Amino acid sequence: MTNATEDKIPVIMVVDDDVSARLQLRFTLENSGYSVVEAASGEEALTLFARQPPDLILLDIIMPGMDGFAACRSLRQLPGGEHTPIVMVTGLEDAATITCAFDAGATDFISKPINMLILGYRVRYWLRSGLILTDLKSSRQRLFKAQQIAQLGHWELNLQTGRFHISAQDPALFGVSDPTSHQSLFAHIAADEKHRVQQFFDEARSKGQPFSLNYRIIRPDGEERIIFNQGEIVLDRNNRPCLIVGIVQDITELKQAEDQIRYLAFYDKLTGLANRSLFREHWTKIHPLAERLQRKIAILFIDLDHFKRVNDTLGHPVGDKVLITVAERLRSVLRHSDVVSRSATEQPHSIISRLGGDEFTILSASFSTLDNIANLAERITQTIEQPILIDDQTLTLSASVGISVYPDDCDNIDDLLKNADTAMYEAKEKGRNNYQFFQSQMNDAANARFQLANSLRRALRNNEFVLHYQPQFCSQTRKMTGAEALIRWMDPELGLVPPISFLPFAEESGLIHAINDWVIATACAQAQQWVAAGLFEGCRMAVNISGQNLNFKKLAARIIHILEQTGLAPHHLELELTERVMMENTEEAVESLERFKEMGIAVAIDDFGTGYSALSHLQIFPLTTLKIDKSFVQNISTEGNSIALLHSIVGIAKSFNLKVVAEGVETDEQVHVLDAIHCDQLQGYLFSRPIPQEALERGLRDGFAAAKN
Ligand code: C2E
Ligand code: CA
Ligand code: CA
Repeated sequence: MTNATEDKIPVIMVVDDDVSARLQLRFTLENSGYSVVEAASGEEALTLFARQPPDLILLDIIMPGMDGFAACRSLRQLPGGEHTPIVMVTGLEDAATITCAFDAGATDFISKPINMLILGYRVRYWLRSGLILTDLKSSRQRLFKAQQIAQLGHWELNLQTGRFHISAQDPALFGVSDPTSHQSLFAHIAADEKHRVQQFFDEARSKGQPFSLNYRIIRPDGEERIIFNQGEIVLDRNNRPCLIVGIVQDITELKQAEDQIRYLAFYDKLTGLANRSLFREHWTKIHPLAERLQRKIAILFIDLDHFKRVNDTLGHPVGDKVLITVAERLRSVLRHSDVVSRSATEQPHSIISRLGGDEFTILSASFSTLDNIANLAERITQTIEQPILIDDQTLTLSASVGISVYPDDCDNIDDLLKNADTAMYEAKEKGRNNYQFFQSQMNDAANARFQLANSLRRALRNNEFVLHYQPQFCSQTRKMTGAEALIRWMDPELGLVPPISFLPFAEESGLIHAINDWVIATACAQAQQWVAAGLFEGCRMAVNISGQNLNFKKLAARIIHILEQTGLAPHHLELELTERVMMENTEEAVESLERFKEMGIAVAIDDFGTGYSALSHLQIFPLTTLKIDKSFVQNISTEGNSIALLHSIVGIAKSFNLKVVAEGVETDEQVHVLDAIHCDQLQGYLFSRPIPQEALERGLRDGFAAAKN
């Protein structure tokens, strides 16, 4: 840029074919402190200008070759020539010449003969105005650039004349090349926004207040952009609105960035569902609305059954895919349900969120009856039940759903969530894969469960558990062959608590693992004590092991460790496992049982003949013993054909080389039948109830009365 600055000596180009005229001008100008360049023709002027543009040009009109007009026009075309002041020097002071001069782009004219006294002052004026022009030009350019970067434009609407002006950037903003009127721009506002925008402007205008608003426009090429428009009303002397001035800005990218940030803050990355924050925010939105409209809000708390097992056995990537599939299914169920969100604007609508892990919630206020919600819950359990195909594997899952309803069950989100969770727990209790509405008595149950968990932990810490032992006898010799350890809880307040009152809860809460450990260690230590006292020759200590989703590898390690610690030989130990426990983790169970068998630890299948029983299990699992369930034994007297069935079970067990133990033997008649079908060992009240350690020790020394005859 050829900015003449204050500290630089301005350069003036004198163009004249008359050498004496040039010399006279040079003399005068140099005396006034300017530097002078001479050109003898229009052509030379162009060449010199291209080399070094001067700050001012004094240009003679009448010259041979290229005349002053032509030279002026050409100079204006040169880079930087646009704004250089060009002053025509003319002897012809007629109107036509002056018009021609200005048409050619002259800044001013001066007539011959030149008043040299005044020339210095006029030159100074021309230079100064040239300078201002260049400054203005560059600041305009800067503004243009800045506005372009900010995707910003300014506009003005004269309310009296209707004249509309918009800055050069706006065509790019709106995608319209020639926005001559504000109506032509208005036409590009998205159809569903026009009314709102119009209302907004009208209101601002009638109130004379500043305004700002966002709206969407559709460009001629179909692209949708978001525009921010801000303006102010200018009042005239009579306080009447005369002008609106404002700026427009394309904030599409800004909005997108905002949306992205909002997405990260409010949505679950894995499933794209709402997260806990949005779930809560949604509640604060729909809650007052529901209150005003006197509507109910329901929370469905959805928890996948045994999801941990998927993660543990198939790995987290598979678990993630399962969660994504479940999220999709929930979305689809909600889309097609009677409680669906009808439109984004019509509040209150439903929202699905993932609170974490395998827990999902649906918050809905758009249902008419609780039946709708029950239907929804029903369809959720159904959809989740459908097999899920992941990497050629088919998984079958189920879900338990708890439902609580505002304002029926409570009036705030925390309690609503808690109650839905409690109801979900109840659904799990009821065998999973179902849904339950919250009922206030569930809270009592939840409380009781909480208390029980605490008490059991305390019991473990304070050694409140004891083992009783029930002896087992050889059916032929009536000699004692071992004892089954059975746990009891000596609660300081309740007294002796039977296992049925606390074990199911211990199993479901996971406390059972610590209890299993304690039982194995205590029973082994006791057995070893009797072995050492010479009382346990040829006898086994049978220990019950249970729990959901038992980790067999850990269990095996634990048992081996306990045997080492207590010094008990493996052939004195027998483990009792139910089919259910083994079936839950077949592969690991088989592996560990194999190991036990090799070590000489006996393994009994417990409660055989109840619900889960299948003779095929005898083949799958490496067992040593089959325990006929007491319900079977007790049927002997009442049902004739149960004897035949019992007979064949014993036969099959024998073919697998299993020892058969009958438990729950109470009558001589039962003993008679069991003897007849070659059952190996007998256990039951007829011989002895489960008894404390001292009592069993007495029996070991002196014999058991009932077994003697
Ligand atoms: P189970 O393994 O079937 O144990 C036999 C149950 O039958 C015991 O009940 C025992 O007292 C009872 N019983 C024995 N003989 C007779 C009889 O002649 N008639 C009748 N009606 N019942 C008889 P208990 O001690 O109440 O234990 C109940 C269940 O609790 C056990 O059933 C077992 O599944 C579980 N259990 C007991 N102790 C433990 C333990 O230390 N660990 C684990 N995991 N489970 C245990
Ligand atoms: Ca047992
Ligand atoms: Ca049993």
